[in-house]
Amino acid sequence: RHLYGGERLNASGLNLADHAVQFHLAQAWEKAGKQSWQAAPIVNGHRLAGNTCLIHNPADRDDIVGEVSLANAEAADQALDAACQAAPGWADSDVGMRAACLEQAAELLEAQMLELMSLIIREGGRTIPDALNEVRETIDFCRYYAVQARRHFAHPITLPGVTGESNQLRWAGRGVFICISPWNFPAAIFTGQIAAALVAGNSVIAKPAAPTPLSAAYLVDILHQAGIPQTVLHFLPGSGSQIGMQLVSDPRIAGVAFTGSTSTARQINQALAQRERILPFIAETGGQNCMLVDSSALPEQVVQDVIASSFNSAGQRCSALRVLYLQQEIAPQIISMLSGAMDELRIGNPMQLSTDIGPVISDSACAELLQHCEHMHREAHLIKALQQPPACVSGSFFPPHVYEIERLDQLQHEVFGPVLHIIRYSANQLDEVIAAINRSGYGLTLGIHSRIESRIDYIQRHTRCGNTYANRNMIGAVVGSQPFGGEGLSGTGPKAGGPHYLQRFATERVITVNT
Ligand code: GLU
Repeated sequence: RHLYGGERLNASGLNLADHAVQFHLAQAWEKAGKQSWQAAPIVNGHRLAGNTCLIHNPADRDDIVGEVSLANAEAADQALDAACQAAPGWADSDVGMRAACLEQAAELLEAQMLELMSLIIREGGRTIPDALNEVRETIDFCRYYAVQARRHFAHPITLPGVTGESNQLRWAGRGVFICISPWNFPAAIFTGQIAAALVAGNSVIAKPAAPTPLSAAYLVDILHQAGIPQTVLHFLPGSGSQIGMQLVSDPRIAGVAFTGSTSTARQINQALAQRERILPFIAETGGQNCMLVDSSALPEQVVQDVIASSFNSAGQRCSALRVLYLQQEIAPQIISMLSGAMDELRIGNPMQLSTDIGPVISDSACAELLQHCEHMHREAHLIKALQQPPACVSGSFFPPHVYEIERLDQLQHEVFGPVLHIIRYSANQLDEVIAAINRSGYGLTLGIHSRIESRIDYIQRHTRCGNTYANRNMIGAVVGSQPFGGEGLSGTGPKAGGPHYLQRFATERVITVNT
């Protein structure tokens, strides 16, 4: 549990080892497993019709989680009009009231934690511990941004001036913000972006990732129930290339928050650059994340942290470890221990507590990973490949693979799944390794395992990475403790869950009065 600058505690978890908790989970799953969810475009509180599409559980193709009506161009146009109309009034509203709405949403989420967990497990293929942590992070974002908004936006900052002059700086909402979120954190990232944009005084149009509209619809409903006006928050499930691009190309918008691939961020940036007005673009994108392990590291801890960093969430985190640099002397030992530890991993139904690795999001994600592995079979040395789960489990599963490669530039793009690459290096090559990491152009997470403090410091200061973790795993940034986000090809900043995030959603105004 952590303090938010002394003001607020992070959401508490559940003890998943406790039998009473396990019993409650089993009951919740029993009920939720049969539920059918619905999502549709929501504009000014009205649900709009559109072409429908079924959402399948990625861990079990026969399980239909629900149905989504997709937004069309007309719905997007209506949402833009509605959000434009509501923006001035919302920007003018009391920030304390806006913060209170987020706090109320956090309360509702805490009360409905198990239901939301079951939905993101079924729709997003998250494991139980992942789903729990994600719902906690969702709650944390609401509370943290509420605290930050009150702290920074509630009172104007008085600035010095000559005698007879008063100077005040205030923050104001910018207008209509478009929030486009990914499927790998269908609750936390979706809610984090919206909560920030709303509390900073913007009206919002939320476009969830195509595979996870049901969790998103659930969260929009919570935010509306918590007091966010229906005129201020609109919801458009639909395709990124159509609805997403229509929204970011529209002249009525005032800014975009996006989390997803680097290539989509580039397309959005191009669309934004076509207009007369220069708009803020907050992008959190991919990584080619590395971990450096030297010969002073503790092998047991390295192995545990490598497994968590590479294979948790089936490797579908932008923070996940993709390339493990092992100092030559300890490489054979670590590789052999890693291979042994991987044999213990259980792949399968994410609704079961014993499962370590759930499915990847879709069959097409599986196909892309397979293609990468086929390429690696030709280019690299296979160290380990786990088996598919038994045939009775009919989902989009991709078992963890580990390859040894020679150079980082053998990987041309981010591989979004449970595939780890190992490179051996010798102690005198440390600067070359650092240069290769920087040359990749990405700069999201970096892991270091070493017991030499000056080396940790040296590596950290010479690599361009948003989040560096030493002697631990490199995933699961905690709101308020590890503000998250990268640089270079990994994003624009500011950091989600950090003290400077909200400001980018707002504009500064100074009023000078001759008194
Ligand atoms: N914040 C997440 C983490 O620290 C990753 C977010 C993402 O994958 O976009 O693991």
